[in-house]
Amino acid sequence: SAGVVVVGAGQAGFQLAASLREGGFPGPVTLVGDEGALPYQRPPLSKAYLAGKTDAEGLALRPPAFFAEHGIAHRPEIRAVGIDRDARRLYLGDGTALPYDHLALATGSRNRPLPVPGADLAGVRQLRGLADADALKAALTDARAVAVVGAGFIGLEFAAVAAARGVAVTVVEAADRPMARAVSPETAAFFRAAQEGMGVRFLFAAGVAEILGRDGRAVGLGLADGREIPADLVLVGIGVLPNQELAEAAGLTVGDGIRVDALLATADPAISAIGDCARFPSPFARGLSPDGHVRIESVQNAIDQGRCLAARLNGRPAAYGALPWFWSDQGPHKLQIAGLSAPEDARVVRGDGSAFSVFRFRDGRLSAVESVDRAGDHMIARRLLASGPPLTPEQAGDPGFDLKGLAM
Ligand code: FAD
Repeated sequence: SAGVVVVGAGQAGFQLAASLREGGFPGPVTLVGDEGALPYQRPPLSKAYLAGKTDAEGLALRPPAFFAEHGIAHRPEIRAVGIDRDARRLYLGDGTALPYDHLALATGSRNRPLPVPGADLAGVRQLRGLADADALKAALTDARAVAVVGAGFIGLEFAAVAAARGVAVTVVEAADRPMARAVSPETAAFFRAAQEGMGVRFLFAAGVAEILGRDGRAVGLGLADGREIPADLVLVGIGVLPNQELAEAAGLTVGDGIRVDALLATADPAISAIGDCARFPSPFARGLSPDGHVRIESVQNAIDQGRCLAARLNGRPAAYGALPWFWSDQGPHKLQIAGLSAPEDARVVRGDGSAFSVFRFRDGRLSAVESVDRAGDHMIARRLLASGPPLTPEQAGDPGFDLKGLAM
């Protein structure tokens, strides 16, 4: 048989291949990746790796021998460029084709480009892969002033690392607070103050109109209101776009992600999509999007979707219903999020100003919990959200209420 071919050797693609073997899949498994490296973890790229606390070997998801030992063919440094659905063949950048019985698209996402003049100047960088992190690490050694465009997770994690090295950091953000789309005002306020305490300067409600250059190099940001922010290194962190072009060209339905059903299958039963590139129905997305479909960029989602698809291909199909969870490390502080919240979800704070959790409620039901330096709450929240008994807002806000007891 032609077996399973996986496009994208990232977190989701790797997990699928490993879980297929774990579940006893007998046929060929081929991982097609275009990054050269063996599958590796991205989260440390903006944290420990950038800070010099771990090396490239420490990022690897498995040592090189794992792939041969488990009969996983890894084709690094080659791009998939087309799909012939009738013939069930995947076309590669070198003109060859791979036959498949099942094709898994695990192509991830890429950084959204900043659509302003000067975005291509030297010194303007983004962070997605190992090569980006290496370039940024090198640039940080002699940067004097750093500007970060976008106060999202990656921008803030980068800002914290840069500030810890004594570099002047200015974060420019269009919204009025950091992580505005992802967290509550309480959590945003905490991280704003924490970052400012680390020396980071924020400019909110500010738009970048251009990147100023001299001799082909960035020298600062030109804001829409005319202000100029000097910077010899600019990190753009304004979100990602799903890598869906391969699916789209093959006639599959896309729209902010490759559309799949609850089994993670596209309309073609021989093709599935998992990880950052997939848009799927989630039981946790009630009220979040008109059709209950979401696209999630997280390690948890990539791993759990890889496992879910592997189980189906091993003859144990089940709808994908894993609880979403996420984390971000900024300086000494850890943010953990369980569940999916909508901006209008009610908020109940538990804890104090130094460590707290924000419990979010939608229609009176717990929808998400953001924990700041409260790992215990996060673990309890994961249980409550996944399968626990209902928690009321009154209970969440009562410091004497036994949350752990409820979750057990
Ligand atoms: P990826 O890991 O991006 O893998 C996709 C792979 O497919 C890539 O190697 C890509 O080059 C390849 N590819 C794409 N198209 C083709 C093609 N046509 N042919 C061949 N190969 C192709 N998540 C968290 O939960 N917590 C964190 O703290 C966190 N921190 C992060 C920090 C950084 C700097 C980044 C970039 C991401 C972070 N994430 C974090 C997000 C998390 O890493 C991603 O959600 C996860 O990697 C998604 O896995 P994936 O397999 O879908 O995509």
